[in-house]
Amino acid sequence: MRRNDHASHLLPAIAVGIICGVIVGGWAPDIGTAVQFLGEAFLRALFLMVVPLVMSSIIVGVSSLGDVRALGTLGGRTVAFFAGTTMIAVIVGLVLVLIVRPGETAIMGKSVIEHERNDVNARLDDRPQTLGALLRTIVLGLIPDNVFAAMAKAEVLPLIVFSLVFGGILTTMGERGRVVLMFVEGVNEAIMAMVHLLMWTAPIGIGALLAGRLGEAGGFSGFWPQVMPLSAYVLTVLFALGLHGLIILPLLLRVVARVNSWRYLRAIAPALLTAFSTSSSSATLPLTIERVIDGGGVSRRVAGFVLPLGATINMNGTALYEAIAAVFIAQTYGVEIGLGHAVVIALTATLAAIGAAGIPEAGLVTMVIVLKAVDLPIEGISLILIVDWLLDRCRTAVNVWGDAVGAAAIDRLEGRTGSA
Ligand code: ASP
Repeated sequence: MRRNDHASHLLPAIAVGIICGVIVGGWAPDIGTAVQFLGEAFLRALFLMVVPLVMSSIIVGVSSLGDVRALGTLGGRTVAFFAGTTMIAVIVGLVLVLIVRPGETAIMGKSVIEHERNDVNARLDDRPQTLGALLRTIVLGLIPDNVFAAMAKAEVLPLIVFSLVFGGILTTMGERGRVVLMFVEGVNEAIMAMVHLLMWTAPIGIGALLAGRLGEAGGFSGFWPQVMPLSAYVLTVLFALGLHGLIILPLLLRVVARVNSWRYLRAIAPALLTAFSTSSSSATLPLTIERVIDGGGVSRRVAGFVLPLGATINMNGTALYEAIAAVFIAQTYGVEIGLGHAVVIALTATLAAIGAAGIPEAGLVTMVIVLKAVDLPIEGISLILIVDWLLDRCRTAVNVWGDAVGAAAIDRLEGRTGSA
C-alpha cells in the first residue's frame, strides 16, 4: 500500500456507514427506504465513470505495451488466470454443497415457491436458455454495431474490444496518433481524479444503499423470516464464498503475486464494500481500478486491462454460487447428482458466470443454462429467489476480490513487483 494512500483511511468511516445503514434499515425500515436515494445517487455517480474510465484506461494501457505481441501474452495470462480461479471456485462450491446437502434439510414453504414463480418466469422470458444461445450471445456481444449505443448502454465487453483495437491503431500512426493518445491520457487522469473525489462519499452511499435494501425487506422483522427457511443453503453459500475469498484467493495472491494478502485486502476493501452494497461489479469498477492502482500499487497498464475484463468475465463468486444453487435445487427435487452431472454443472456454471453481466442478480438469470444442462426444472430458481438479493451482494464482493487478486498476480507475472 502506498504511503500517500489517503483513501484507505476511509475504511473506518465506511464501517460506520455500514453499521448505521444496518441499524437504520433493520430497526426503522421507513427511514431506511427514505434515505435510499442517497445510495442511488452514489450508484449513479459510479456508473457515470464506467464508460470513460474503461475506454481511456484500455487505450492508454494498450498504447504503453510497446509491442502488440505483448498484448497476446498479457491477454493469455489474464484469461488463463481467470479460468483457473473460476474453476477452483466452482469446485469449492460443488464439494461443499455435496457434503453439506442443504437441499435435503431445507424447510421450504410452498407458498413462497408459488409466490415467486411468476416473478421468475417474467425475468427469464427473453434470456438465452441454451448453451448454444449463450455462446452466440457472448460472441456477438463482443462486437458492437454502434460504439455510441454500446457506450450509452454501458456495455463493457464490446467497448473493451473497440478500445483495444483503437489503442493499438493509435500506436501505429506516428505523431497524429500521439496527439490523440495525449488527449486520452488526460481524460483518464481526470476521470481517475473524479473517482478519487467520489470515494469520499462512499461511507454515506454504502450506508444508504444498505439501509434502503433492508428497509425494502421490511427491516429485521421482515428479513429473518425470508432467510430462516433457507438458512442451510444461505450458510453453505456464505461458507464457500468465505473459503474461496479468505483462504484460496489470498493464498494465490501470496504464492503468485508475492503480495501481503492482508495489506492488499485492506487496500482494496473500500471497493469490496462498495461491491457488497451495490451488488454490481460494473458499478464498482471505477473504485476497483482506483484502489488496485493507488492502494495496491499495481501498474496502470495491467490494472487498466485486467480489471475491466475481469468485471465482465471473471466472476468467482457467481460461478461458485451457480454450482451450489443448481445442486441445491436438485437436492430439493430429490435428484441425485452423480459424477457426470457434477462435471456438467462445473462446466456450465463456469460458462454461465462468464456470460453473466456485472449487474445485480445477473447470475440468477444465467443459471437457467446450468439447470437445463442437467435437466432440472427452471422453476427451481423460484426456491432461492427470495434470498438472492442477500447472496448477490456477497458473491459480487468475491467477484471483485477475484479481479483484484488477478490484477496483482498478472502484474507480477508481467515482471512488476506489487507494492502492497
Ligand atoms: N451481481 C453480480 C456482479 O455484478 C453478478 C451476479 O448476479 O452474480 O458481479
